Amino acid sequence: MTSIGKVVPIVGVIQNYAWGKKGTESEVAKLYKGSIPSFNIQPGSPYAELWFGTHPKGPSKLLENSELLTSWLSKNLQQASCNHSNELPFLLKVLSVDTALSIQIHPNKLEAGELHKWNPREYPDSNHKPEMAIALTSFEALCGFRPLQEIEHYFCDLDELKILTKLVTDSAHHVTTAGKIFQTELDFKNSFVSLMNCDAGIVKEQAASLNGRISKNNEMKSDPNHALFLRLHCQYPGDVGCFCVYFLNYVTLKPGEALFLQSNLPHAYIHGDCIECMANSDNVVRAGLTPKFRDVDTLCRLVKYENRQIRDVLFDSLAKDFKKYTMPATSTSSILLVTKGQAKLYCINKSNEDNDDNNGGRNSAGTNSLKSDTKPDRNDHRWKKIDIKTGLNKENGNGVLRNAPSEQKGNKAKNDSAKPGELN
Ligand SMILES: [Zn+2]
Repeated sequence: MTSIGKVVPIVGVIQNYAWGKKGTESEVAKLYKGSIPSFNIQPGSPYAELWFGTHPKGPSKLLENSELLTSWLSKNLQQASCNHSNELPFLLKVLSVDTALSIQIHPNKLEAGELHKWNPREYPDSNHKPEMAIALTSFEALCGFRPLQEIEHYFCDLDELKILTKLVTDSAHHVTTAGKIFQTELDFKNSFVSLMNCDAGIVKEQAASLNGRISKNNEMKSDPNHALFLRLHCQYPGDVGCFCVYFLNYVTLKPGEALFLQSNLPHAYIHGDCIECMANSDNVVRAGLTPKFRDVDTLCRLVKYENRQIRDVLFDSLAKDFKKYTMPATSTSSILLVTKGQAKLYCINKSNEDNDDNNGGRNSAGTNSLKSDTKPDRNDHRWKKIDIKTGLNKENGNGVLRNAPSEQKGNKAKNDSAKPGELN
């Protein structure tokens, strides 16, 4: 068995959706050019997504000979002990968002199965879609319901919200008697459901009213949430989703920070570039800020009505120090993406090493006989070096697929270890 050839540079597939950043503003376009230097970035064209994986809508190919990744995987996985066939169980994307994406949730596995049975056209598979977004540039998103006091604050200030959620007739009573808009914690749930189900004509009217008030009032404009309302209203005039800024946390991730979007957590990407990794599924329940199919009933039924602080939805990237990063071994294939600078990737077949298999082959390279500070020996034929460069003026690919570990006698999975050297 040899695993030396099991790390292979791949090229992603661009998706030119209209909401993408245009020209060289787009990280997607720049990263793609890192792979294909002859690629001509058109200044007025949107470059929304770059897909790495085996999804039929955008299957990756090998950099060296344009072979489909699925074909390469089927040839190289014959004796492999991984949990997938010639298709990867995940999809890795780079997103460059210029115009906000829909207010959405992703169902859990059980719900996805039910939705798929009920409406296979809009819910095309029965898989769940947990996703993680890691910011590459300053990245704005709405995520999770705000703390109750924050929602109440905007209800107190904005008559439009009271009208849309039918609180207008008794809101004065609520405010004066209890000092609160919401009498119980779940009152905000009823308000959210009322808002999302409100007559489109009334929504349009109230959105125009609020848009006019904020535009004329500098104090209001200085509130980031009102400022976001203006931006969204400009992109989606009269859309009920504009009012979601007062229900959902508005977060701006710094590069390297991440959001994990578990099932039924409401979210919307607003602007910026990120890496997004998700299960292989297209199941999205949308309810606002979109020309696509809206399923308000399902979203209101499944969404998690939990109030969260921003710090509860946000966390730092696990790999803060990208200078030297030893990749943990996994039981499935993985994709490495170099987003800046260049990397020297050294891989070694560890099957001949004295491995400790007590933890099922999932231990990081540093805990095995190959220590994390092991220097690659360039004269040792077992080492293979792959140069990965990226950026507008660099050559070579930026995506690398690391294959799953191969099966050993006794069904023990051993690890290939892939070790990047310095990232310059
Ligand atoms: Zn999503």
